[in-house]
Amino acid sequence: MRLIKTVIELRAILSKAKGPVGLVPTMGAVHEGHIALLKKARSECSTVITSIFINPHQFNIKDDYLNYPKSASKDLEIMETEGVDIVFKPELEEIYPSSYTTTVKVKDLSDRFEGVSRPGHLDSVATIVIKLLNICQPDFVYFGQKDVQQLLMVKRMITDLNIQTNLVSVGTVRDIDGLALSSRNIYLNKLQRQSALGLYCALKLASKLRINGEQSANSIKAEMEKVLINHKLDIDYLAICDPETLDEITYIDKTAIVLVAAHCGKTRLIDNLLI
Ligand code: AMP
Repeated sequence: MRLIKTVIELRAILSKAKGPVGLVPTMGAVHEGHIALLKKARSECSTVITSIFINPHQFNIKDDYLNYPKSASKDLEIMETEGVDIVFKPELEEIYPSSYTTTVKVKDLSDRFEGVSRPGHLDSVATIVIKLLNICQPDFVYFGQKDVQQLLMVKRMITDLNIQTNLVSVGTVRDIDGLALSSRNIYLNKLQRQSALGLYCALKLASKLRINGEQSANSIKAEMEKVLINHKLDIDYLAICDPETLDEITYIDKTAIVLVAAHCGKTRLIDNLLI
């Protein structure tokens, strides 16, 4: 496995790399969710690159950026074990020199839910993703369903900007009790960890209600709200949407996606489920 820090070096290596090339973008603090993406990439590609870059522009709160969990040596060990060929871990200046001014915006998809709660966040994600796609020019790029709005936005951007890559989505990896794995889960104390489970409980309830024939989004959301509140979670948003456009729906007559974001103490958690 090679650890590469500059774009020039990476491009030189990639020009001789055996295809197909797969890219797994991450911010490090690797957990089983990331590992599922790495395994999928390894099974489909001859060359697997993973990037580790904590993009400061996608954090709304400076402290959140500065305190974002970092586990560089453990990350590299895991990546080596998972058979990653190249780790691209650039310094901030390599990606955003002081002269940098461009931002990419995916209209509509980045203006709701996460876009409202974290203004500018998804524009910054779109910008770093397109930069990584241009730098690596992968045949396949891997994203988790856990961040479904990000996934759909990247999908839209790849189509709109004629980027020659195939987006592969990987299902959400959960802890044994159902909590979606997230680098931020380490901020949760024991009690908060119990509360956090409310997100999955509420999503499972939505699925159960839907299976039992409920078609009113409002009724399902009302029941979910009770679960979230019982778990002492502070709801940020709760929505039932078309799974492709993320347009909210009121009457459910086909597969829909439930999105939820909530604060658990100071930690903000998101999750989603198709129902
Ligand atoms: P991050 O390091 O948080 O930017 O995540 C890097 C990639 O891993 C993104 O595509 C995420 O959607 C994905 N990911 C994060 N958590 C999970 C999870 N629990 N299951 C599947 N994919 C995940």
